[in-house]
Amino acid sequence: MRLSQFHLSTSKETPADAEVVSHQLMLRAGMIRKLAAGIYTWTPLGLRVLRKVETAVREEMQAAGAIEMLMPSVQPKELWEETGRWEKFGGQLLKIKDRKDAWYAYGPTHEEVVTDFARNELSSYRQLPLTVFQIQTKFRDEIRPRFGVMRAREFLMKDAYSFHLDAQDLDRQYHEIYRAYERIFTRLGLRFRAVFADTGAIGGSASHEFHVLADSGEDAIAWSDGSAYAANVELAEALAPAAPRPAPAEAMREVETPTQKTCEDVAALLDIPLARTVRTLALVGADGFVVALARGDHAVNTIKLAKVAGLAEYRMATEAEIAAHLGSEPGFLGPVGPKAAVRVVADRAVAAMADFVVGANRPGYHLTGVNWGRDLPEPDVVADLRNAEAGDPSPDGRGTLAIARGIEVGHVFQLGPKYAEAMGATVLDEQGKARVMHMGCYGIGVSRIVAAAIEQNSDAAGIVWPEPMAPWRVAVCVINPKNDPAVAEAAAALHAELSAAGVDSVLDDRGLRPGQMFADIELIGIPHRVVVSARGLEAGTFEYRSRTAAESEALDRDALLARLG
Ligand code: ATP
Ligand code: MG
Ligand code: MG
Ligand code: MG
Repeated sequence: MRLSQFHLSTSKETPADAEVVSHQLMLRAGMIRKLAAGIYTWTPLGLRVLRKVETAVREEMQAAGAIEMLMPSVQPKELWEETGRWEKFGGQLLKIKDRKDAWYAYGPTHEEVVTDFARNELSSYRQLPLTVFQIQTKFRDEIRPRFGVMRAREFLMKDAYSFHLDAQDLDRQYHEIYRAYERIFTRLGLRFRAVFADTGAIGGSASHEFHVLADSGEDAIAWSDGSAYAANVELAEALAPAAPRPAPAEAMREVETPTQKTCEDVAALLDIPLARTVRTLALVGADGFVVALARGDHAVNTIKLAKVAGLAEYRMATEAEIAAHLGSEPGFLGPVGPKAAVRVVADRAVAAMADFVVGANRPGYHLTGVNWGRDLPEPDVVADLRNAEAGDPSPDGRGTLAIARGIEVGHVFQLGPKYAEAMGATVLDEQGKARVMHMGCYGIGVSRIVAAAIEQNSDAAGIVWPEPMAPWRVAVCVINPKNDPAVAEAAAALHAELSAAGVDSVLDDRGLRPGQMFADIELIGIPHRVVVSARGLEAGTFEYRSRTAAESEALDRDALLARLG
């Protein structure tokens, strides 16, 4: 490839609306362009990187026995009704209508479509196991798309699904895919961790998330240096031993509070210190009920509350939505204290977070003196790593904890018979008896990986790609090509020779001033730069510099080829 015939469009300015370094650098390098909120064009440069990630993912999935296919993005409503997810999936599901007034979803994931495929295609245990995957565009109407392609609405996912006769065979393939994921992230040169995860909205038994470690990550993860203990901090409880609960300070009671109160008013009325400024967040369940809770550790609280309320699906609601639901005004909902209290609104059970807290329940009412386990069903939540620090003992008693922030780039689930049961996906076993298939599902955020890699690998000059992800491994930079045909020719010959030797190289023959050209090549993160100049030609050398080296070196042709081979 010659850059003079490519479309490279870089910028020195840091875009004002890009908060994280990957978003800034992807825009500055000209890898992506925003079309609408959470919707991006991948430029020719960006696409080269995306394709490299895809290739690694594809090859390792194939090595794990998965077969590639391609399913539609637009999916009929009826299929989603079979599993109940047309309603339950919530606001992330983009619903569209055709000219005949028939409804469709733009696929945020493909369990329904693939299970429909399986029930039509598979009839005998002899056809099992089967693992299929696709690399395909998904759409999720995220409440807060941000960080560019990191949390986009339209994004590229690798999703795989496996079908088995029993749970044991599913477990075997689950671990096979788990190992494929380890190979993928290792091969891409990323620092990552696999952690135990909640099965959340998708449901099922076992689940692990793969996180790329980066300070900008939206998740916190913890692991032990002395055992296999590793958990998403939100979910650490699921693996840890039970902790004793404090005795209740007082009986739970419902307190009448005049509607339209501020946080301060409610705190005063209940005689509870307003320890922190809290604003209310909430979960909206599929059937429209609301769990109110305070901000502050809200990710942790969200998961716990969802479990207590038995919510399979949920999303955060805005204060205005909650107020509308309660027939109140924004500002009324005012849980107080660092641990929020709650109540499931509608005719569901009361739930609360701690023994001293309050929460909005119905218009004009709050709860106080609520205690887990005593007043409310104890969820399978027992340990809390929220205040844990690196160096603390691991909850399993073996080793000490390391804690870091992570970006979720992959997720594997053992779904079991859940979807196959709902959709009647069965095969005949050896005895000729119909059996519901067991399923696994396995996702990788292909486009998110590109951003995550930059979060881990950049410097003041720009992106520093791990070699397997770079748009090109080598840039051959020509000094003054227009006025010096001999130099231009030598550079083109070197580029051709590298390409013939299988070295992924690009020729920068744009004729820019050297400073400008080098700044571009560094910004877009090319791992190896070779400068061809009249002076070098005279001396019989090329000027070579690694993206991470401080100095360049003069190398003759053979030494250069040996270095880049
Ligand atoms: P998150 O917790 O970040 O919202 P998720 O748990 O909802 O992700 P999954 O349903 O597990 O996502 O989807 C599989 C993978 O798809 C995720 O591990 C992630 O890498 C990627 N992914 C999910 N949502 C997005 C998004 N909005 N933008 C980019 N990638 C995404
Ligand atoms: Mg999500
Ligand atoms: Mg997640
Ligand atoms: Mg996930």
